[in-house]
Amino acid sequence: MHRVKVSALARVMPLSVGEAQHLRVLRLGVGTQVRVFDGQGAEASATLIRLDDPASGVGAMLELGEAVVNDRETPQPVTLAVALLKGDKLSDVVRAATELGVSTVQLLQTRHADVQEIGDQKLIRLRRIAAEASKQSRRAVTPEVLAPVPLARLTLSGQGFLAHPGSAARLTDTLHWQMPLTLVSGPEGGFADAEVAALTALGFMAVTLGPRILRAETAPLALLGALAATGV
Ligand code: SAH
Repeated sequence: MHRVKVSALARVMPLSVGEAQHLRVLRLGVGTQVRVFDGQGAEASATLIRLDDPASGVGAMLELGEAVVNDRETPQPVTLAVALLKGDKLSDVVRAATELGVSTVQLLQTRHADVQEIGDQKLIRLRRIAAEASKQSRRAVTPEVLAPVPLARLTLSGQGFLAHPGSAARLTDTLHWQMPLTLVSGPEGGFADAEVAALTALGFMAVTLGPRILRAETAPLALLGALAATGV
């Protein structure tokens, strides 16, 4: 069933011009049943009750149906704190992290990163990618993608893990789902020793992802893959 993200569930929901256009391309007609979700966890069935000609300027309208229980969220919220990466690599990370169930992506400025900032347009694009990926993975929650903060501003509530080559500890030995989780993954240049020390002092545990060196865009997926493999 086609999934439509709306800003809020309401008795009647007008759709954006872009979404209306998309429904037309899919050749969905008035009367079609769709699913709506608000990105915050609420989901319901809905019926397309109006789909105007693009020339009229008015888009499409949905009428709310029954609430649907969507239980695709992890038992505790997962935050992925990931260093800024070059080019379009963050798009792939955000897309896959959404599929793997994160509730927040916190972008991080780190000492050895090739990139220290991202533009507003890129942040908007990453948020759009998260919305699309949540649709695709049938989540009712769209992860937040938070603007970059310096690593020193990161805090920890719950369990925290930091991927760092050469660490002895293993995520899978310590992970439990009793508390929110934060996973931290570094830039191409790796974390500076002082950064590892600062995170460890906050309570993050440095963990290995095996003896091979993973690319900065692969490491977050290896961390999240370990969570996904717990099957929840
Ligand atoms: N240039 C660095 C490697 C950076 S890899 C060096 O030579 O040490 C980029 C990031 O991926 C790292 O900061 C870390 O967070 C993660 N990473 C890559 N391979 C890893 C591994 N085998 N174990 C743990 N973390 C790893």
